[in-house]
Amino acid sequence: MPGPLEARLRAKVRDVPDFPKPGILFKDITPALADASLFREMTEAMAAPFARRGITHVVSVESRGFILGGPIAQHLGAGFVPARKRGKLPWRTLGEEYSLEYGTDMLEIHVDALPHGARVVIVDDVLATGGTAAAVGALVRRGGAELHGYAFLMALGFLGGRARLGDTPVECMLEY
Ligand code: AMP
Repeated sequence: MPGPLEARLRAKVRDVPDFPKPGILFKDITPALADASLFREMTEAMAAPFARRGITHVVSVESRGFILGGPIAQHLGAGFVPARKRGKLPWRTLGEEYSLEYGTDMLEIHVDALPHGARVVIVDDVLATGGTAAAVGALVRRGGAELHGYAFLMALGFLGGRARLGDTPVECMLEY
């Protein structure tokens, strides 16, 4: 019998020191993604808190967020909206500056991606400083959509990201 999901997941998140630059301990989820059963189970578990909540859209951040956000949208019966780095989306966009654990950039979504009143969950792999998630949240709200929560595979609690997400519910499978 497979063990508890959280333990199996934790065993397949690889710590890579000093990537992409010195001092960052990178949480590599590719071993977990490559496990067919684990990939399905973890996206089902991330979707579960938002089931039967009338979620209409999942918004994810490139690139690892996309890998999780697609299956989660399908589990929820929701559409998928990509948030991308500056200049990557082909149509007219809304943009928001954000800061990373390792740099700053701008995130964009298409101006017409979320209808007014859309019920949104934001998905990403890692909650670190919360700068990325807060920027996506601002983009979602600017378009008149309702932000119902965040779903992360893991949170790096020592970086305090939750404090930047206000009262919006935050669901994480693993805490570090
Ligand atoms: P932040 O805006 O600081 O919360 O950073 C979150 C984004 O950066 C997410 O899209 C993560 O994929 C990525 N990220 C930040 N820190 C790490 C880390 N230590 N390991 C893996 N990904 C990270």
